Amino acid sequence: MPRQFFVGGNFKMNGTIKSIKDIISGLNDAKLDGETEVVISPPSLYLLLARENLKKGIEVAAQNVFDKPNGAFTGEISVEQLKDSGITWTILGHSERRTLLAETDDFVASKTKVATDGGLSVILCCGETLEQREAGTTTDVVTSQLKAVADKISDWSKIVIAYEPIWAIGTGKVASTEQAQEVHAAIRKWLSDAVSSDAAEATRILYGGSVSEKNCVELAKQPDIDGFLVGGASLKPAFYDIINAKA
Ligand code: PEP
Repeated sequence: MPRQFFVGGNFKMNGTIKSIKDIISGLNDAKLDGETEVVISPPSLYLLLARENLKKGIEVAAQNVFDKPNGAFTGEISVEQLKDSGITWTILGHSERRTLLAETDDFVASKTKVATDGGLSVILCCGETLEQREAGTTTDVVTSQLKAVADKISDWSKIVIAYEPIWAIGTGKVASTEQAQEVHAAIRKWLSDAVSSDAAEATRILYGGSVSEKNCVELAKQPDIDGFLVGGASLKPAFYDIINAKA
């Protein structure tokens, strides 16, 4: 079974009611490739606004979820609360949270388990720093981030992996098609060895890091690139071209 192309838009901490409504009506009206699965991820305050205004067929993702069901966890949001608001996806393990908020591989893995057990789908991010790439440890870094998840879960059917080299996020420095394909192939091989050949065949592996309307078509031709996680460009009409990269 071919893997369905997937494009996620990570708005990060950007937007207002007005600008997010504008992005949503742009997406509702744009001519988008019906073969591509599209998920947008606005800040948590606007998740419900997005869900209520987006057309059917485009899903909404939180940018994070907590690993406890409810209680005294100020500032956090539970899986149940997301589902109650019609939110079906969450991003987890984004490098900005790993770096700025000191999220460990183990914590990301716990949240991934709780999210998938609770019925959410997860865009699970992984990726190396420039120093790690230059030291030749990219595959080790990425697979150890993923192994923390594999230690807690065996069913990868609700997970989409996003490979996001940290040096390419928001920097305008995109990984070359060869660099991206090489890591994607290594992740797929790791899935086959550590999880199962079925999981390796079925799991979508997205590329993220300065994806634009200019580089998306070449990247999308690579055999192990099954879509994109897009930051900055997801706030602009360029996002439509990225969604249509395979069309
Ligand atoms: C991201 O933060 O997930 C991302 C890929 O950002 P950008 O596209 O802006 O590099």
